[in-house]
Amino acid sequence: MTPGPGHALVTGGGSGIGRAVALGLAAAGWQVTVLGRNVTRLAAVAREHAGIVALGCDVGDEAAVMSTLEEATGRYGPPGLLVNGAGIVETAPFAKSPDVLWDRLWRTNVMGAVHMSRAVLPAMRQLPAARIINIASTASLKGYAYVSAYTATKHALLGMTRALALELAGTAITVNAVCPGYTDTDIVRDAVANIVARTGRSEAEALATFTGTNPQGRLIDPAEVLGTVLWLASDAARSVTGQAIVVAGGEIM
Ligand code: NDP
Repeated sequence: MTPGPGHALVTGGGSGIGRAVALGLAAAGWQVTVLGRNVTRLAAVAREHAGIVALGCDVGDEAAVMSTLEEATGRYGPPGLLVNGAGIVETAPFAKSPDVLWDRLWRTNVMGAVHMSRAVLPAMRQLPAARIINIASTASLKGYAYVSAYTATKHALLGMTRALALELAGTAITVNAVCPGYTDTDIVRDAVANIVARTGRSEAEALATFTGTNPQGRLIDPAEVLGTVLWLASDAARSVTGQAIVVAGGEIM
């Protein structure tokens, strides 16, 4: 039994990985609701495909999540697929990472997925099949210097994925994490610009910091993350639950 193509929710659908996932799901026939804070950017994605609708929502705010979910479900029915793509990164040495930085990252990267999952579960339980897919990271499985808070939140997101998958194993809902390595989106583009500004290194040298972690020597294309999402959403993946699917050119094995 497959959950789709039905109604899919994609948080962080206004840019990068979430945008690629939203467009790919819409092309595969899903009715997609994209969620994020920047409604202008979300609306631009919605204009790219008739099967995409944009709703402004800060996933860190549970009340906003609940009312947005009510609106989305009222329009297109219970979501059979939730892709938790919303996430933020802040780079800083551990000693210069104050509580407010940890709180910001925790609220979006962990509680965002918690709020969304908690909100969709009652409706998902009524469906013949459903999927929750968390866009985690290779940082869910290994450490990286100068991103201690980000790494901790991504480890936590994977922990939540595994526990929830077991809790729901008796239902038709699977819960999985996709763990991309450095991917060609604004997150990496901004980090490259930062390195150039701070160190005076060339853009090519700064980019090599990121491509160098991937044994294939390149950034991941958001379309590759979409491919894994499409597979996890399919009937072929109905026995795949609680997994961390690494899309990183062999960085982790
Ligand atoms: P982007 O910055 O392009 O995407 C992040 C998205 O999250 C934005 O669209 C942003 O939209 C949204 N977002 C952030 N905070 C909130 C919030 N509080 N509520 C709702 N939406 C929010 O980067 P990526 O596409 O690269 O990142 C997508 C996911 O992939 C993230 O979880 C990231 O950690 C993960 N990832 C990225 C990797 C990379 O190298 N790029 C590698 C591994 C994982 P808005 O600002 O409008 O709210």
